[in-house]
Amino acid sequence: MAAISMQAVGKHFGKTEAIRNVGFDIRDGEFAVFVGPSGCGKSTLLRLIAGLEDVGTGTIAFDGRDVTELAPAERGVAMVFQSYALYPHMSAYDNMAFGLKLAKTDKRNIDDRVRDAARILQIEPLLDRKPRELSGGQRQRVAIGRAIVRQPRVFLFDEPLSNLDAALRMQMRIELKRLHRDLGTTMIYVTHDQVEAMTLADRIVVLNAGAVEQIGAPLALYHHPRNLFVAGFIGSPKMNFLAATVTACDASQVTLDLGTRRPVIAAVADTTRLRPGAKVTLGLRPEHLTDTLADAAQLDGEVIALEHLGSESYVHLACGHDESLVIKSVGDTAIEVGQRVSVAVPPRACYLFDETGTALLRPD
Ligand code: ATP
Repeated sequence: MAAISMQAVGKHFGKTEAIRNVGFDIRDGEFAVFVGPSGCGKSTLLRLIAGLEDVGTGTIAFDGRDVTELAPAERGVAMVFQSYALYPHMSAYDNMAFGLKLAKTDKRNIDDRVRDAARILQIEPLLDRKPRELSGGQRQRVAIGRAIVRQPRVFLFDEPLSNLDAALRMQMRIELKRLHRDLGTTMIYVTHDQVEAMTLADRIVVLNAGAVEQIGAPLALYHHPRNLFVAGFIGSPKMNFLAATVTACDASQVTLDLGTRRPVIAAVADTTRLRPGAKVTLGLRPEHLTDTLADAAQLDGEVIALEHLGSESYVHLACGHDESLVIKSVGDTAIEVGQRVSVAVPPRACYLFDETGTALLRPD
């Protein structure tokens, strides 16, 4: 197990600045998830920690020891990739044992470790099979087994579940969580899927254009995103953003004009940075909005699309702003396309962002 510390880490590929001045710590035994849109530098950061890429500037330390110049094999990390990269001519057992054989580990010890990993991953009956005789999920388990037998100080996962179907991904997520609990080893997991990040992580590191936007526990990011980027990235369906003007504010609440028939009242923990006339962005999560009685509502609009998911429905409203407003409704909603719907905005459902996109403090 290891704590990892990054200080002022930077990396260029030619003119592309893939990582910009990244500095944070991952705690010993923590499950950290790097998340962000395609090309934001997640894989590069993981590969820098693994030693598969040379660090441009800055340092990386494991348990206080500088590993920046150490080769991957000397760092005690094991990596699992999206492509399982198993040897096709070897059995699952031999694939898992291969690295240990190369390291001249004694046979008995190899056998113990492979069978132990197979038991943890519930693939004991499959050890004699070749990769082509295994399903995608079983292959990925063998690839994870190959990492486990090395007893690494840190597991590094680079989108390991992307090739699996939705049901299997969910099952594997639960298994990875269990694995983390059983082994207690530091794990770093890269994904572009915020649902995966929310469900797996002790702490999420949100990356954007090579830099860290915010680090925090999943629910801390959900309730208190630092800026528009994190607010728009964490949560599904995505947060709605509406342009608004402040018309009044006191110590704990702000009155907003959205160009709608009623003002919206937003609860804010600190209004010192606001004054009447300020332009802000109001963020509203679809799950916090409900269709309601017309006379109690602040927003209304025409339904332009409906998505039925069975357990819930997403209603898209055209309400005079650039983007449609999405609200989450019940699975068997009676709402129809073309209908007008009114929406109530509870004060505590409001997320506010100033003109720079920085969030205003919300009440807990
Ligand atoms: P994805 O989710 O699409 O895998 P990512 O967040 O993992 O993306 P990286 O693969 O880390 O992103 O890439 C970060 C940036 O660095 C991108 O602009 C990418 O084009 C660039 N890059 C990555 N590897 C190389 C390389 N070997 N040579 C040149 N540019 C690279």
